[in-house]
Amino acid sequence: MVTGGAGPAVHLGVPVPDPEAVGGCDVCEALARQRVAAYAVGDRSKVSDCNVEIRRHPHRS
Ligand SMILES: [Zn+2]
Repeated sequence: MVTGGAGPAVHLGVPVPDPEAVGGCDVCEALARQRVAAYAVGDRSKVSDCNVEIRRHPHRS
């Protein structure tokens, strides 16, 4: 079996990369976990929702 080369995620029809959750931000980390779960079930709209929330979240500390 040949392995290697496969990326961690496939972005079919997604024009921009997923935003990174901000370390130490509980909201972002929760959203990132929801996004992983949404990917796992193939729920693209949920993934998009999480991405939007992460991008727009004011990461004030
Ligand atoms: Zn945040």
